[in-house]
Amino acid sequence: MTDKPKVAFYWCASCGGCEESVVDLAEAILEVVQLVDIVFWPVAIDTKKADVERMADGSIAVSLINGAVRTSEQEEMAQLLRRKSQLVVAYGSCAQMGGIPALANQYSRERILRTVYEEVPTVDNPNKVRPQPDYVDDAQICVHLPEFRQRVRSLDQVVDVDYTLPGCPPTPKLLAEALHAILDGNLPPKGTVLAPDTALCDACPRKDSKPEDVGYTEFKRPHWTILDPEKCFLAQGVVCMGPATRSGCDAQCIRGNMPCTGCFGPTSRVHDQGAKIVSSICSSIAAEDSDGIESTLSGIPDPVGTFYRYGLSKCLLRGRVDAVDAARSSQEGTR
Ligand code: SF4
Ligand code: SF4
Repeated sequence: MTDKPKVAFYWCASCGGCEESVVDLAEAILEVVQLVDIVFWPVAIDTKKADVERMADGSIAVSLINGAVRTSEQEEMAQLLRRKSQLVVAYGSCAQMGGIPALANQYSRERILRTVYEEVPTVDNPNKVRPQPDYVDDAQICVHLPEFRQRVRSLDQVVDVDYTLPGCPPTPKLLAEALHAILDGNLPPKGTVLAPDTALCDACPRKDSKPEDVGYTEFKRPHWTILDPEKCFLAQGVVCMGPATRSGCDAQCIRGNMPCTGCFGPTSRVHDQGAKIVSSICSSIAAEDSDGIESTLSGIPDPVGTFYRYGLSKCLLRGRVDAVDAARSSQEGTR
């Protein structure tokens, strides 16, 4: 053991992209490794939950936790790392706002389990067997599985979070700046999102062509459209989340001729990222009759996936719960 600050990384409901973004520090990772002692990082080093449990409370300088929280295991790990850490950073869109996994909040837990274990065409399960949290086999060996909670939650809906690094995944530049700020003790107030608090449009290379007043007559899907590489996407009738999204990503998608999908989350002035862009876009539709409005909106066939791609856990509308889930919720609380 060294006296260098201890750092932990953990992934909850995650695709692994956030873990890769740490490796994307490239040669700068060697500098980081010189400065810190990485004590827990399940994807990269062989350390176990018991190793963390043995550490003194508050002995980890910072835990960077990515991924959303869906299972009881993820919840327990987040709570354990919170107890052992001076600082907890929500790392990436999934930890910040639920991210892609939170799109499952469109469906109840019962609906998801029924679909996965009973209804999909590739499932052969005549007895409708589902995984149980506790199972004792013929040899009396008890197997525990994590519980699948009612909803996908962001990290700050489970534990106290000190800082947030946004992005899907965060850029190596933001990660390096955050690590240096933490190691130098040069931190902004608790709760700060460690990226500029301005909308992406302010930093966008196409901002001069952003329309002030547009009457949308149709919305086009980017993969069905030949896109002008210089012109604002909104001016081309393509939904761009830039007006409701925080900057700090160096407009990488825009520079690749793809509209912003909102992974950096909202600025501090926006409460609900999806609602903000829905209100802005819908108030700019040219048609005034319901048929015309519906025809224009038919160009956005997946409104939730478009406007809440990363932020459904933070949506002010809580989501759908069916009768079976409602009964379980009243027994377990609303996890
Ligand atoms: S924020 Fe993006 S890269 Fe990170 S775990 Fe979620 S989906 Fe993957
Ligand atoms: S709407 Fe999109 S393309 Fe237009 S200025 Fe904003 S970020 Fe750039």
